[in-house]
Amino acid sequence: MTWSITDQVRRRGRPRGPGPELTPPRISNARSPNRADEALDALTHAARDTTPACTGDARFTAERHETPPTDLIAMRGICRTCPLHDLCNTYATTARPAAGFWAGAHYGKEGSS
Ligand code: SF4
Repeated sequence: MTWSITDQVRRRGRPRGPGPELTPPRISNARSPNRADEALDALTHAARDTTPACTGDARFTAERHETPPTDLIAMRGICRTCPLHDLCNTYATTARPAAGFWAGAHYGKEGSS
């Protein structure tokens, strides 16, 4: 299955589990919900023109403890060269997603990596 960035935002923005991915991203510890919404809008808008390399890559939705160190290094390399990195980082640092790997770091209850 290939996910769009919007699907990934939804998937990574909430705890993993079965069910439709139609809910908006869950914001955990969001510093500013309005700023987080704006950052998400900017990221999803940019992703319409540029498909990031994380699209469809299940490593980016896996929990941190499920990610081997070699994958972590590879994922950081992908994010470092991603044209959406700054927008992704702004979203992640503003919204503090409940799960997933964003702009080179894990978010969620397991902490950043
Ligand atoms: S910075 Fe990384 S996680 Fe964010 S869109 Fe780009 S590849 Fe995906």
